[in-house]
Amino acid sequence: MKAVVIGMGKSGTAAASLLKRKGYEVVPYDDRKPIPLPEKPSLVVKSPGVPPHHPVVQKFKRAGVPVIGEVELAYRFCRGRIVAVTGTNGKSTTTALIHHVLLTGGYRAFIGGNFGIPFSSFAEETEEGSITVLELSSFQIEDLVDFRCEVSVVLNVTPDHLNRYPSFSDYASAKLELLQRSKLCVLNLDDPLLRGKGGGRALFFSRKGKADAFLDGDRIVCGGFILPLRELPLKGVHNAENYMASLLVLKRLGVPDDVIVQGFKTFTGLPHRTEFVATVNGITFINDSKSTNVDSLRKALESFNRIVLIAGGSDKGLDFSPLRSLVKDRVKAIVAIGETASLFKSTFGDLVEVVIEKDIYSATRRAYALAEKGDVVLLSPGCASFDMFKSFEERGERFKEAVALLEETFAGS
Ligand code: ADP
Repeated sequence: MKAVVIGMGKSGTAAASLLKRKGYEVVPYDDRKPIPLPEKPSLVVKSPGVPPHHPVVQKFKRAGVPVIGEVELAYRFCRGRIVAVTGTNGKSTTTALIHHVLLTGGYRAFIGGNFGIPFSSFAEETEEGSITVLELSSFQIEDLVDFRCEVSVVLNVTPDHLNRYPSFSDYASAKLELLQRSKLCVLNLDDPLLRGKGGGRALFFSRKGKADAFLDGDRIVCGGFILPLRELPLKGVHNAENYMASLLVLKRLGVPDDVIVQGFKTFTGLPHRTEFVATVNGITFINDSKSTNVDSLRKALESFNRIVLIAGGSDKGLDFSPLRSLVKDRVKAIVAIGETASLFKSTFGDLVEVVIEKDIYSATRRAYALAEKGDVVLLSPGCASFDMFKSFEERGERFKEAVALLEETFAGS
């Protein structure tokens, strides 16, 4: 049996190893090193980064060769229940939170997918009693065939990746595809695209009105389950949503309330997501480097007051003007960086001071100079990092370094 794997990044490499373990002769293909390919392999596995219109993918499809994604391949070797989490924002946080609670309760739980651990690298270790929590991107959902899960979560669907999809509705449809593959869907009632979806198989959460899980002032309420947000470590409006979504999933899995509460209270969050860095002379620094689109920036702005914002990065054609009133109410100044710096200036320059800086170090110093005691310097770029950095992690780490330098220079001054 011959299999071709297209795209030899992390997931492609994991898929190739899995196929080899299963007795396939594997032909690894990557655009960076094109090689002649067999005419009619028995299977083609496509990495999520490879677009569906890629000529090699198209050629195999035309020849009638089954083309599946890496997640679909792994699924075929997975046992036990699967929870699949998708959405434009909050996937990693929610996936990690659910997994953490399961481990807290002593469950045999796995985590992976778009989370950075390819599903193919651990699918064979799963068992009938285990629970696999998968973060799925829209690219991964597109390439599913037989995949089914116990519960799926769609946290939100807002504009992003418009450079890969022909339109927002194509992007939304890719995410919503997951609903057909789940016994139960957990959906955000406040998202106009998700309201009413899921047929009779949906549970909803809401920050704004009554739902299966909802906010009553500061408290999360879900039937008899009541938990004040102030007792939980993750702050910000978006994390209230992540907690509610996770709660509905965990209840469906039969996890006892006391385990859920204990797990929620001991999960301290992932780095680069509205992460507290330091307070220097009364000015708080928050690292939200993972904010790479309009809605993640919106949620960060809604979560703080008196903000000096550091934003900007790669240009994917996003429109930030829906944030104008929020910027007017909460932002004192913007330090813009990267490819979209001038876009931030033209979008918000009439509302607040917008200055452009060339790198993250000078931007951090400038933001500190513009801030006063009690203010928050928030790095929430709203854009991908690739114009200036290798990854969002590198951007966040450089920001933390810049804050540490400020601390050395100015602490106590
Ligand atoms: P993803 O894996 O979908 O990119 P992350 O948990 O890594 O999600 O968070 C990405 C960005 O989105 C961060 O800036 C984070 O603060 C923000 N965020 C987290 N949860 C949500 C949510 N439910 N809605 C909107 N933004 C969110």
